[in-house]
Amino acid sequence: MISLILLLIGILISGVLFYVSFVSIFEKEYRAARVSFLLSVILFIPFIFIYLYDFQLKEIISNILLAFLVLSAFILFLPIRPKVKGGFQIPAQKHDERDVMFSRNELKPETENFKSYYSNNPAKKDLDDKFREKPGLLSSESTMYHHLSFASAHANLEVIEALKPIVDGTVNEQKIIVEASGISNYIETWSTKLGAHSVGITELKDYHLYSHKGRGDLYAKEIKNKHKYAIAITIEMDHEMIQTAPKGPVVMESTQQYLNAGTIALQVAYFIRNLGYSARAHIDGNYELICPLVARDAGLGEIGRMGLLMIPKLGPRVRIAVVTTDIPMEVSKSRNFSSAIDFCGICKKCADICPSRSISFDDRENVDGVLRWKINSESCFTYWCTTGTDCGRCMAVCPYSHPNNFMHNFIRWGINNSYIFRRFALYMDDLFYARKPKSGKLPSWIDM
Ligand code: SF4
Ligand code: SF4
Repeated sequence: MISLILLLIGILISGVLFYVSFVSIFEKEYRAARVSFLLSVILFIPFIFIYLYDFQLKEIISNILLAFLVLSAFILFLPIRPKVKGGFQIPAQKHDERDVMFSRNELKPETENFKSYYSNNPAKKDLDDKFREKPGLLSSESTMYHHLSFASAHANLEVIEALKPIVDGTVNEQKIIVEASGISNYIETWSTKLGAHSVGITELKDYHLYSHKGRGDLYAKEIKNKHKYAIAITIEMDHEMIQTAPKGPVVMESTQQYLNAGTIALQVAYFIRNLGYSARAHIDGNYELICPLVARDAGLGEIGRMGLLMIPKLGPRVRIAVVTTDIPMEVSKSRNFSSAIDFCGICKKCADICPSRSISFDDRENVDGVLRWKINSESCFTYWCTTGTDCGRCMAVCPYSHPNNFMHNFIRWGINNSYIFRRFALYMDDLFYARKPKSGKLPSWIDM
């Protein structure tokens, strides 16, 4: 009887591994497909052996194996979730957008803005000279230059540039009275139909806002946004494109999703203004606030080791846009995603793979009153200016970045549910996908 139960368990384990192998082929994860197929065969051998053959101590061995399997499953799925140190924290001061690497990259030598920035921040001059010596983002001299993907990224950025002036606009004088919960649901559902992966609403806090503009014509202008609410919109980045990081498709995809997220934000902002309420879209290159912080407070996710928003089903593989508004809204509930901080504490895959060593291996530290990981944005950006792309190796290897399907969502559920499962899942991720996986090949339609 026990040998039959063990045989059924063996079939279940091998069947699951065979299913993993099958799904991995579709995901073009060939190492994972090979490993899971091999395991599905090897792990089945003891079960079939016990079932088919009689040998000395068969009963004792069968009982021990069954007890081991039942106990392991019980321990793995035990819902142990120790409270994460630090909890919800608020930055002590506002950030200045002029300090962001994109803003510093836009400073032209000999201009007043350039001189004034580096006279106020002399320590940053030497650091920034390093990235200025490199070919630069999307440069034809860069190491990852690829004419088609770079031209697509340029095209995306040019369209975004054309959209920047329309983030704000005239509000309809005829105000339509709306009910907070109904309009919040309408905007969330509509945005999802437009292509958003997730939408969250929070009250707009002072610490969400930059202190001063760092890009465009309004450089150095103090930011005074009095809107009451912020709507954060995330949009998925294509898994196959991100796997090619740091090659051309990654910058093609990130600019594409900046554009897509921005377009949805613009539509929502226009819609709200048509209803008679003020609204401003915050899109790539024309922000007044820090999108990941807004998205975190809107309950969409947590900020992980690489300093990006991590959301439950896609991890860091998203782009974000925000709409701020004074239309009555109902704030979103948190999505109970506390596991990311603990998982980032043990994982460190992004830190291991980072070619510029910009991601910390240490525990979170107190930065401006908030316990978090701080990446070295100067060395990261210098690497971007060398490759010409926005790299994305960290995003590509993150165990949370796997495709959004049943198999990976089951693992994500386990990671969220159990402190012990998290450790097991990390070990399995390294085994199936490698600790330092190679960069993926360019899709054939791009590699012409
Ligand atoms: S790779 Fe690991 S450590 Fe890095 S963000 Fe993802 S889960 Fe966290
Ligand atoms: S984008 Fe690349 S260089 Fe920057 S932190 Fe990630 S892996 Fe490192």
